[in-house]
Amino acid sequence: MNLLQPWNVVFLVGLVVFFWIRYVFVNRTKCEKKSVRRIDGLEKILLLAMFPPTLLLPLLYLFTPLLAFADYRLPAFVSWCGTATMLVSLWLFFRSHADLGQNWSVSLELREGHQLVTHGVYQFVRHPMYASIWLWAIAQGLLLQNWFAGWSVVPAFAAMYFLRTPREEQLMCELFGDEYREYMRRTGRLFPRMWTKNSAEQSPAPEPANEPPGSGECSPPAG
Ligand code: SAH
Repeated sequence: MNLLQPWNVVFLVGLVVFFWIRYVFVNRTKCEKKSVRRIDGLEKILLLAMFPPTLLLPLLYLFTPLLAFADYRLPAFVSWCGTATMLVSLWLFFRSHADLGQNWSVSLELREGHQLVTHGVYQFVRHPMYASIWLWAIAQGLLLQNWFAGWSVVPAFAAMYFLRTPREEQLMCELFGDEYREYMRRTGRLFPRMWTKNSAEQSPAPEPANEPPGSGECSPPAG
């Protein structure tokens, strides 16, 4: 059984921690009343598409021989890199949940009294939780030495990230307006900005400094 290999045990422990973090924060926020819900067909498909690569395929790989035809072997240093990436991912995953606090939800939603979080890891990037899931996808690929169990999370999360992020930013702009647009000027999506243009320089151009117009981010309200 694949579970007898040490890197697979490392992955399984990480997977338990990953879902434990989610479980804790789902419980903490489940009583929050929502004022806006944008959970349409696309959003449901994107969420559902994450289930096989994050849980089903890894468990099939670890506990059954069904995916053995797609196994391969990597040198140990690659697995060490995978472990380090996983630890950073778990830390960032935890921190982003903790910093969002009651404002977190698994889907595109705003709660009653929703507050814009710009502290903690959110002072550097707008999507630290998505950054942590990208890191998780890389760690999974480096630790599980199987083409399907290891790498299928990358296309599934890419679809989620590229389709959902512009919608999420649009939602935040609708609620927070100039406050969110100013926040966009200061921060990058996944990587901290190296420099920030001041608002006067930006005006009247609405788009954030180093992201092209029409990249899916919101523009200021007309007038
Ligand atoms: N994209 C963020 C958050 C993902 S959770 C990240 O990657 O870290 C998704 C929910 O978080 C969204 O529905 C939105 O309501 C909320 N959200 C996203 N950014 C926020 C922010 N800066 N402040 C408050 N809520 C935020």
